[in-house]
Amino acid sequence: YGEANLYEIQEVVGKGSYGVVAAAVDTHTGEKVAIKKIDNVFEHVSEATRILREIKLLRLLRHPDIAEIKAYNAAFMSERILRIYLFFFELMETDLHHVIKTNDDLGIINFFLYELLRALKYIHSANVFHRDLKPKNILANADCKLKICDFGLARASFGDAPSAVFWTYTPAIDIWSIGCIFAEILMGKPLFPGKNVFPNVDPLALRLLERLTAFDPKDRPYAEENSNFNPKRLRDEIQEIVVSEGGQIPKKKRNTCHKKMSIAQIVSNLAEQVQMLVQKNRARITLSRGRI
Ligand code: ADP
Repeated sequence: YGEANLYEIQEVVGKGSYGVVAAAVDTHTGEKVAIKKIDNVFEHVSEATRILREIKLLRLLRHPDIAEIKAYNAAFMSERILRIYLFFFELMETDLHHVIKTNDDLGIINFFLYELLRALKYIHSANVFHRDLKPKNILANADCKLKICDFGLARASFGDAPSAVFWTYTPAIDIWSIGCIFAEILMGKPLFPGKNVFPNVDPLALRLLERLTAFDPKDRPYAEENSNFNPKRLRDEIQEIVVSEGGQIPKKKRNTCHKKMSIAQIVSNLAEQVQMLVQKNRARITLSRGRI
């Protein structure tokens, strides 16, 4: 434990559907971080899959507009993982939900939209789809920095024509969400409260909104390939994750992965994978005073 990072928990800053997020300070460097705690991780297959996917994808995704994971750790009880801690590099001040409610500066909003699309461009060029983009999953700072968080529902898609079969695994699903967020920003409230009135909105903004939320996913624009990096390596790494989970690969192979597994086996398999990932960081992080 000579080189252990000690974190002092300060306060709870957010709650999601699975985790509680607290602000904490690295007692050596004074750096502020966010720690997400998820309890009872291995009681349900869906939750175990969710946390494993989030850890695996966040380890690979590196972009200024995506929450960056610093480490993860687990608390054990009689050899079983009881809860997981995810440590994020940056403690953000608020989320887009709050910004939309309290701000009507269109300049800031244009910039947020730009950042969101920039992040999506990166995510999509790695064949990953977030699938749960909403203002509460978009963290924000007073200096207009944005970070997308919560990759628990994200999926990676590979194969010849996955989009034709699994339309929810295409970029269009995230583009639709951005359209809804954009509309929410323009209106200052959610898109579907029953009214269709957009007073005083720039016609160009309306045209963009129309395209983002086109009913047919094929009519929505793409966030485009990112010209600043070569996504091939990232795609390969992500494909490995997908194949190891037995998802989005030809049916024949998938059957051999999961066919005869009971739920208990699948859960213990997932727990093993998380345990392997956690072991690397486990000894180096200790929570000092405070509780989440
Ligand atoms: P869940 O997977 O349980 O839905 P989230 O990852 O969405 O949890 O996080 C829940 C909430 O915690 C977010 O809506 C946000 O308010 C807060 N939060 C998450 N990450 C951070 C962070 N890095 N800095 C500040 N607040 C955060």
